[in-house]
Formats: sequence, structure tokens, C-alpha cells
Amino acid sequence: MNNDHQKPHAIVIPYPLQGHVIPSVHLALKLETKGFVITFVNTQSIHQQITKSQPNHSDTFGDDIFTDSRKSGLDIRYVVVNDGFPLGFDRSLNHDQYFEGVLHVMSAHADELVGETIKTNPPPTCLIADTFFVWSSMISNKYNLVNVSFWTEPALVFTLYYHVDLLRKNGHVGSLDTYFIYNREDTIDYIPGIGAIEPKDLMSYLQASDTTTVVHRIIFKAFKDVKNADFIICNTIQELEPQTISALHEKHPTYAIGPIFPTGFTKSVVATSLWSESDCTRWLDTKPPGSVLYVSLGSYAHVSKNTIVEIAQRLLLSGVSFIWVLRPGSINSDETDVLLVGFEEEVKETGLMVPWCCQIEVISHPTVGGFLTHCGWNSILESVWCTVPLICLPLLTDQFTNRKLVVDNWKIGVNVCDNKQIKAEEVAETIHCLMNGKLGDELRKNIEVVKNKLENALSTDGSSQVSLEKFISDVKIKTQ
Ligand code: UDP
Repeated sequence: MNNDHQKPHAIVIPYPLQGHVIPSVHLALKLETKGFVITFVNTQSIHQQITKSQPNHSDTFGDDIFTDSRKSGLDIRYVVVNDGFPLGFDRSLNHDQYFEGVLHVMSAHADELVGETIKTNPPPTCLIADTFFVWSSMISNKYNLVNVSFWTEPALVFTLYYHVDLLRKNGHVGSLDTYFIYNREDTIDYIPGIGAIEPKDLMSYLQASDTTTVVHRIIFKAFKDVKNADFIICNTIQELEPQTISALHEKHPTYAIGPIFPTGFTKSVVATSLWSESDCTRWLDTKPPGSVLYVSLGSYAHVSKNTIVEIAQRLLLSGVSFIWVLRPGSINSDETDVLLVGFEEEVKETGLMVPWCCQIEVISHPTVGGFLTHCGWNSILESVWCTVPLICLPLLTDQFTNRKLVVDNWKIGVNVCDNKQIKAEEVAETIHCLMNGKLGDELRKNIEVVKNKLENALSTDGSSQVSLEKFISDVKIKTQ
């Protein structure tokens, strides 16, 4: 019998957004080294953007982001699927329409693609799809695949979405009064597995007064669907969220297998960036150790021109050196050039503005001593790994909840945005103290402790390794 027949074959489908594609690629690589055959699925649009962002790119779809890793003998097959829109459609400007497409049209294409993959050898045994896809159980059931939900954010965020009905029942989310919809503003202390949490720390979608938008419908549907999953794997660490993970595990088999990234932090052998990466190393090499603040608001958020002007003012006032990633199209204004005229000139000596970079390479550089972040979960894990303390400027989705973990629970970062307006001088002072003063020393001490937990989790008998092995063995048992 062909040895391949004994190998589990997983179809991995990431949600088509940068912060989901990156951990999914690393999950695929990890599972392959543990004996899985992988079919990795990107949307055509994500594939095209990755291809174009590569130096010397070619526009053909014959390319394969895993080509280099396959040279070393990895069995990762790569396929692309239509997300329901023509390639020219601007997905970043039309999020609602895009998500509707992913909800309705992509499901049909994914269904067809899984149907084709079923005929390959060895036949797939499980589907590992992002938790935000609402159609995973439909496809898994149809093709008799083990249904694995991949959650790329903290267990705390998962738990809050999972218990949205409880939040509703208690009036903390979209409660209906006689005349208007309101959300209770007192502490939430009844969700299994999590301590008390304030409404301001909920994900932005749960803080909204209107919970009937497209995104809400998708999230609520996805969290109904996830209740049908056989297994849930999370990019988090048992030691960081012990009660939350245990409480989830009582409901569904849940495995904390994070952090899922290349821990050597060299450039990935697989292309994952949606934008071309500018070189920052030469500039960083000229600066003293720990002196540079890295500023990035991630791959998804769009910000107002006010936010940009405020960040620029605060950076100037703080007097620190910085690298500022300003993603193309991330500002809700055509006036970006006008906005930053003069600023770039003024900070010529101390600041470097780039459209995108290899973040893990930048923050692991010894001259980077702080990270002004939107609190995306990948960014937080990467920053912990590099022991770089965080300055938190959450903008939307899970970022407020992640900020709570960083600032309140682990004390590895500080707030520069809250319900109240924080004065420019205060923010500049915070930045200055984090980079130069006692505040930075304290946060760095705490972040060392958290980093140790990550390192231990990934060691041979560490919690994430043990969870991963258990997950693999449970998948195999389920498919026997
Ligand atoms: N990233 C990058 N270059 C940049 C900015 C971000 O490679 O210039 C990567 C970063 O390392 C992280 C991901 O993009 O892995 C962003 O994910 P995160 O969860 O932090 O935020 P999101 O983009 O999903 O809001």
C-alpha cells in the first residue's frame, strides 16, 4: 500500500485577509513537518497581490507561494479559488460587499474545489478553515471531512463572540428597550472562563449600537457554525489564557498551539506579504540600540486624516526616532501627500516612512525599542517574541480586547487612546518615557516573563507542542 495512504491530508483555507493568511501559512508548514499532506487554498485576489508584491514578480497564476519550501521536499499543494469578485474589484474599500461575496459566492467555489481535491491522493481527511467562514460545516459534512476551525485571535475574543447570546440576554450587546437600542455600560462578570471585563474592552462589533450590519451577520453566523466543529485550534498559548481555554475545552475540543510563526524570525521561505517590503535594515543599522519606535496600524484598518496628523504631531513632540509604516490606501482621504508634506522633511534625520516592510525582521532588530501598534493579535505575539513593549492605539474589531490583555493583564504595554481624549503632550511624554525611562524598563521586565511563557510553550514538552501532538492524534483517531 502506498505510504501516503496513512498520511492525513488537510485542506487549509485562510480567511482572505493579511492577518489570517500569515498564521495559516505557518500552520500549514508546521502540520506538514508533522506528517500531514497539505492542500493550501488562497483566493485568486490574495494570490495575485502576493505575487505582485514580490521583487521581479510575474503576473501569471502559474506561480506558487510554496515553491521554495517544496524544493526542500515538503508536500504542500497550492490552489487558488475565486472569492466571487473580479480581480480589479477594490476589496479594501468595499469591505461589506467583499465579505458578502466571501459569504455567498466563495462558498460555492470552495465547495467545488474541495470536491475536486477529494479525488487526489491521498484523499483529504480534514478541512481546516478559518473560524470566520460560515460554510465550513456544510462543506465538511458534504465531503465527510473532519471539521477543524482555525481561530487566529486570542481565546478571550473567541469566548466573547461564542457567548454573544449571553451578552444579549444581559443587555450588554444590542439590548432592545421600548424606544431605542442601548448597551449596558456596567462590568460584565458572567461569561464562563473569563474574569470581569468592561464593555469598552469588547470587540468594536459588540460595542456597536447597530448589530445588524453585514459584518455582524457574518460573525454571528460563523459562531453558530463553529459549534458544529469537531476541533478548534487557536493561535494562543495555554499559559497566557488558562481559564479561558479550559472553559472552552469543556464545550469543544480546543487546542492552544501558538504562537504560530517562524521563531527564527528570518524572512519566511513562503511569500505571504500583500505589499512590497521596503528595506529598513540599512537605516536601522545606523541607530543606537533600543532607540527606534516602530509604528504600524496593520493591514486592515483605515484611519482618518485626523488620526494621521495626531500620530505625526505626537511623534514629533516625543523627539524619538521612528519607522512608520503607512500602508497604501490606509487613509480615508486623498490628501495623504498634502498631509505629510513638510513632516517627512522635518523628520528626515529621525524618521523613516515606508509603505510596508517585513515587520518581524524590523522589530527583531536590536535598535527597535518600542512598538506603537493598533493591537492586531499577530503584531502582539511578534512583539512579545522580540521583547519589544507596546504603545496601544486600538482602532477596531478585536484590537480593544487584545489591548486589555496587553495593558491590564500582562502589563507589557500602555494606552494612548481611551474613551477620553488624551492630550498630545501626554502621549508624547508616554512615548518618550517608554523609549528612554523607567516605564520602558518595567514593561520590558514584564514582557520577558511573557516571552518565556511563549518559549516554554514551544519547547519539546511545552503546552503548545503537547496540544499540537494531541490535536494530530485526535484527528487521526477521528478519521480511522
Ligand atoms: N506586517 C508586515 N509588515 C508591515 C505590517 C504588518 O509584515 O509593514 C504583518 C505583521 O507582521 C503581522 C500582520 O502583518 O503578521 C498583521 O497582522 P495583525 O494581526 O497584527 O493585524 P491586522 O493586519 O490583521 O489588523
